[in-house]
Amino acid sequence: MDSKIFANLDYDAVKYLLSVDDDIQIRELLGAARQTRDSLIGNKVFIRGLIEYSNLCSKNCFYCGIRAGNNKVLRYEVPEDEVLKAAVFAWKNNYGSLVLQSGERSDSAFTSRISELIRKIHLVTENNLRITLSCGEQHEEIYRKWFDLGVKRYLLRIESSDPALYHRLHPRNAKHSYYKRLEAINSLIRIGYQAGTGVMIGLPFQTMDDLAADLFFIRDSGVHMVGMGPYIEHADTPLFKYKDTLSPPEKRVELSLKMIAILRLLRPEINIASSTALQTLDPQGREKGLLAGANVMMPNITPVTYKKNYDLYEGKPGLHDEPADCGRSLAECIRSAGCELAYGEWGDSAFYIKEKGDTE
Ligand code: SAH
Ligand code: SF4
Repeated sequence: MDSKIFANLDYDAVKYLLSVDDDIQIRELLGAARQTRDSLIGNKVFIRGLIEYSNLCSKNCFYCGIRAGNNKVLRYEVPEDEVLKAAVFAWKNNYGSLVLQSGERSDSAFTSRISELIRKIHLVTENNLRITLSCGEQHEEIYRKWFDLGVKRYLLRIESSDPALYHRLHPRNAKHSYYKRLEAINSLIRIGYQAGTGVMIGLPFQTMDDLAADLFFIRDSGVHMVGMGPYIEHADTPLFKYKDTLSPPEKRVELSLKMIAILRLLRPEINIASSTALQTLDPQGREKGLLAGANVMMPNITPVTYKKNYDLYEGKPGLHDEPADCGRSLAECIRSAGCELAYGEWGDSAFYIKEKGDTE
């Protein structure tokens, strides 16, 4: 492959790279991404402890196992003391930051509880941990409230940047509007969050054009962080009926790695997570994500009792692992990918730091 292609990534070049099928060419692409990461932002990997706070959700996304319509799910909310214990674990183990993720609810009982948790997490960790929220679409005033409480990061995937595909993945109603989701991402950026977005890869109906467009959407959206990974089917969801149209798991992993690598080349300074979904489809998936240019890992620190019920997709790994086991395998995984674990660092995105510097 002519390496000049990496320096001039227009739409056709991106589409070409996404469809490259030859092992040597794929290795060249991933190597170029790794080299770009190492030379521009370094080989440090930032750690976010992931707490799956609650699987109660008011939405009905067609792909997701904890959608409101799935009555087979045992619903939970992790009690406050256990959330705080997990936060202290993350702090004491030098994770630097945590992500509080949950199903989407906009009732005030939920939003107030999140506010309370934010206050208490800061208190028990003596303000040493950065908090990221991933609690879906909320009114701008709620986003502002949480920002004012010291949360500076928020993850909200666009899932697919194409409105038509988005609407094939969600019910057609006001609660699942593409434009509302887009507006929520813009409002996070406007407020000043380090905002993260992302897409699922290998979805039913998704084409290479969709994925190329997703990459340019992410590049131009102004976000500072990205989490994207393979779509994984779940038997109790409406999308399951298309499972025979999916490409095999190893191809979805390969495509996800190409997406990570191309994004690293398009936007070298953003934080890109090596997703759990990658690890679900491939035991070496997390290392492979780092080898494709990712620089963030999110070990699961949800108390084991609740973990199995946060059932977004089938085959989630490490359901019985205690947080400490996750931590150890994480360090090994990072080392084996030739990276350095960034102990105790908040890990702001270099793109965010640069933007802030430009405006100050
Ligand atoms: N409720 C929040 C956060 C929890 S869901 C929200 O939707 O933003 C977090 C992410 O899990 C979603 O953004 C989606 O991209 C991913 N997800 C859900 N179901 C999935 C599936 N079947 N395969 C892969 N990823 C999935
Ligand atoms: Fe709820 Fe998020 Fe799952 Fe959609 S993806 S059903 S909002 S948890």
